[in-house]
Amino acid sequence: MLTKIVTVLLIFALFLSGCQSPAQPIDKQPTEEELQETPAENPGSDDTEKNTDWQAYQPNELGEVMILMYHEIGTKEGTWSRQVDNFRADLERLYQENYRPVNLNDYITGNINLPAGTTPFVLTFDDGSSGHLRFIEQDDGKYILDPDCAVAIILEMSKKYDDFTPAGTFFIYYPVPFRQSKWIAEKLAFLKKWGFEIGNHAYNHENLAKLSSAEVVEALAKNVRSTQEYLPGYQVTSLALPYGARAKDETALKSGEWEQTTYQNDAILLVGANPAPSPFAQNFDPFRLPRVRADGTELPRWLNYFQNHPEKRYISDGDSDYLTIPKDLEGKINKDKINGKKLRLY
Ligand SMILES: [Zn+2]
Repeated sequence: MLTKIVTVLLIFALFLSGCQSPAQPIDKQPTEEELQETPAENPGSDDTEKNTDWQAYQPNELGEVMILMYHEIGTKEGTWSRQVDNFRADLERLYQENYRPVNLNDYITGNINLPAGTTPFVLTFDDGSSGHLRFIEQDDGKYILDPDCAVAIILEMSKKYDDFTPAGTFFIYYPVPFRQSKWIAEKLAFLKKWGFEIGNHAYNHENLAKLSSAEVVEALAKNVRSTQEYLPGYQVTSLALPYGARAKDETALKSGEWEQTTYQNDAILLVGANPAPSPFAQNFDPFRLPRVRADGTELPRWLNYFQNHPEKRYISDGDSDYLTIPKDLEGKINKDKINGKKLRLY
């Protein structure tokens, strides 16, 4: 595992130095070997963590989790856009207040392996805006990653802090996710390589509430087909509803088939407006996941809320073999989700 971390850090170092001037272009096509690389595991999954004095952290793995919803990342600040330095500051504040990113898929399956005392949060980005993932063309035709795009800032955090693993789900639509038609395949491969997720935001941001069931299936399958054309074999497993609008036909949101393309969504995300339940809680519903709007008002409001109500917050015990919760919450556990973990009440 140490070798893996060193390798990953070396790659980060090479990669990030390429973002500064003089610019050093990154390879256009990641090699097959590079694509096979996996990021370092979370420190919490290390065996040494098992000796942690978990009680000192007041773990509560039945606490709430913030799924943060970002739209534009760029120069403007507003309800649907976050200024780039404010986005940096968000990640820094989250880190300093012991939040650590996990991917949506790991959150919904309860695969949360974080250090004791930390709280998972999920990063989501809707619409595939240019500020999410931007390449800058160099004189020789090669490109570098814009250091002021969301992906670069997340990677910058993971370089700065060992226990900040790159994570985030990008809910894109077509025909041009991230608004640069030149590098669509390269960008999707880049996301996959660094452990990010690609989600469904309908083919062209259709309002699903206004479509027939057949049209909903087409809009969702076409998105998946496009992603798989650029990234063969990639499994899209989550959907963020455009405009937060829910199709009347729930089953069409979950799975479907259109012109030989099938899709299955294990998670459906709403627009707004509060933290989501622990994946181990009875009220956890992966098909109706609320999100916190990560703007200058809502995110600080919820961070302050959890400062004042630490008992509401998911706090990891640092040991993936155990599910640790305060005794008085025992009745709220969804026993089906424990998945072989040992239950520890205190
Ligand atoms: Zn949208």
